[in-house]
Amino acid sequence: MQIPFLDLKAHHAPLRDELNAAIQEVVDANAFAGGPFVTRFEESFAAYCGARACIGVGNGTDALWMALLGLGIGRGDEVITVPSTFMATAEAITYSGATPVFVDIDERTYNMDPALVERAITPRTKAIIPVHLFGQSADMDPILAIAKAHGLYVVEDACQAHGAEYKGRKAGTLGDAGCFSFYPGKNLGAFGEAGAVVTNRDDLKEKIQMFRDHGQAKKYFHRYIGWNGRMDGIQGAVLKVKLKHLDRSNAARRALAQQYGRELQAVKAVTLPVEATYAKHVYHIYAVRVANRDQVLAAMAAKGVSCGIHYPVPVHLQEAYSGLGLVRGAFPVAEACADTFLSLPMFPELTPAQVSAVTQALVEVLAATPAGR
Ligand SMILES: *Cc1c(COP(=O)(O)O)cnc(C)c1O
Repeated sequence: MQIPFLDLKAHHAPLRDELNAAIQEVVDANAFAGGPFVTRFEESFAAYCGARACIGVGNGTDALWMALLGLGIGRGDEVITVPSTFMATAEAITYSGATPVFVDIDERTYNMDPALVERAITPRTKAIIPVHLFGQSADMDPILAIAKAHGLYVVEDACQAHGAEYKGRKAGTLGDAGCFSFYPGKNLGAFGEAGAVVTNRDDLKEKIQMFRDHGQAKKYFHRYIGWNGRMDGIQGAVLKVKLKHLDRSNAARRALAQQYGRELQAVKAVTLPVEATYAKHVYHIYAVRVANRDQVLAAMAAKGVSCGIHYPVPVHLQEAYSGLGLVRGAFPVAEACADTFLSLPMFPELTPAQVSAVTQALVEVLAATPAGR
């Protein structure tokens, strides 16, 4: 028995003809960099999210960076985020010229703990970036209230949360900007690198449209010093096809997550993910927590089940951020999660039989692994 962590081949097989035709259209139209295929995807993704605008860019890291630049964040500023995220969230802050300031996460949802945000605010703070980790929205209402009270922007890192909801509204549409990655393994994935910012602010839309295209107001007339951050035409065409299948894929992930929950709820050594009452979780990652995680991961691999770790080192303990002077103990919840998170196989085409095989393997592995750590 071999169970992969992710199977993109199985995901794309039923869409093969439709995707090939979409790619051929781009080739025939010679519309490779930006252009009409990107515009059409932007319109459909904005409509899907219920946002006024979507700006396609090169990847999710670009989306975060350009959202910050578009809001005027730069040198001397501070941006509050969480250490339990992919490195890109903090990198985008640093590349804007600002400094990342971390707050710990909530132990139940693994997202920004709103109760810790206010004490991290200083006169330099300009924005908050909540991360909708694993496909579940952060608790946005208290975060938005704090931002409003202190005059801060809110940029949502929705790179793992395509189609996720907070109180019935789509993740990414609650703050000033929502940033998405279409990296191939994400819930909505391109055939390469791509990303987007969604926003309801016309001023921000116009700025990001210029920043991603060398700051051009019109061709060869540069209002800003921008960057080449355009989305490829082929990615726009592929994403427009795949967007039609996102809700079905997310529903499949949710059903598989429920099955994992049913089959593992009685297993005391496993902490299961919790869907908050305000959230519709789309399970980009199905992460459980176990003691002796590295041993469990290796034993699962020996049984043919590929698991992952998202992420083994919280951002504040990364070597690259040693300059911030943060040491172990600074964010105990994020650190404890990083030590114990184990991501089980999760993709829409995973079968119920495979889920049962994973849970059975996990129960066997845990029975053979000494408790405590
Ligand atoms: C994937 C991801 C990013 C970066 O997206 P890229 O498209 O790889 O640049 C940023 N933040 C989070 C939380 C992500 O999961």
